[in-house]
Amino acid sequence: MPDSANTARNEKLKQRLRFYEDLGLAPFYRDRVLASPGPVRPELLPSAPVPASPHTIEESTLRKPALMPSTVPPAASSGKPVQPISSGPSLFDAASASAAETLTQIRDDLGECTRCKLHSTRHKIVFGDGSQKARLVFVGEGPGADEDAQGLPFVGRAGKLLTQMIEAMGLKRGDVYICNVVKCRPPGNRQPEPDEVAACSPFLFRQLDSIKPKVIVCLGATAFQTLLGTSRSISHYRGQWLDYRGYRMLPTYHPAYLLRNPAAKADVWKDLQKVMAEFGLEVKKKAK
Ligand code: URA
Repeated sequence: MPDSANTARNEKLKQRLRFYEDLGLAPFYRDRVLASPGPVRPELLPSAPVPASPHTIEESTLRKPALMPSTVPPAASSGKPVQPISSGPSLFDAASASAAETLTQIRDDLGECTRCKLHSTRHKIVFGDGSQKARLVFVGEGPGADEDAQGLPFVGRAGKLLTQMIEAMGLKRGDVYICNVVKCRPPGNRQPEPDEVAACSPFLFRQLDSIKPKVIVCLGATAFQTLLGTSRSISHYRGQWLDYRGYRMLPTYHPAYLLRNPAAKADVWKDLQKVMAEFGLEVKKKAK
């Protein structure tokens, strides 16, 4: 194109942009992905493949839970460049801000739940226990008789063992959050059935998104299979770092299993030491 035509076209473009600015429409045509005005980045031009935004990455992990062991969250491990959002909340930010509910709000929404048949035999709903700010969450299967009576998770024999495990990590029960896949006791302590898990697990997912912990420990197969949407056996994955929608997740044996198989305690202790390392917690040497 001759230079004069180029200059005329550029001038026209500038006038149009000024006109948009006068109308206050600047954010519509400015590239929100660039952190600050700077040199044009060829990889962001339309002809180049558009890099995934953090939102795209989250969405894809949401639909397709990854079973592959990973040591870093998917956004960082995908190898794709993650572009910073420039300034001001985008539509996505606004949506996620309004979606950040508190545990109290989720509990209120659960109400005196009758969404599945477990409601007819329960005494108390066992929602969860611990801190909204917990960096570590333990997820079990479902309440037993003691939990059903008290409305608190892991307060029976298995619960006492879990509390000891938490304390052996150098933490207190109140430092962490403890909850279950289902919030009402399955009769006779049977495993929760698929329709019960389907009705109740959305509340668990919302609890996790509300807390946004650094690490989730799945206690037993039901928690592991529910979070990862798989029917695979926990035995292949026990003690491995997995990804649950960007959260670091580690499956280990359920404390009730340890009560029946004390020899497996050593494996669980190894797993918990991995979690401790994540938090910079040191294993205390036993005094001689
Ligand atoms: N077992 C669980 O899975 N959860 C409890 O709360 C108690 C025992």
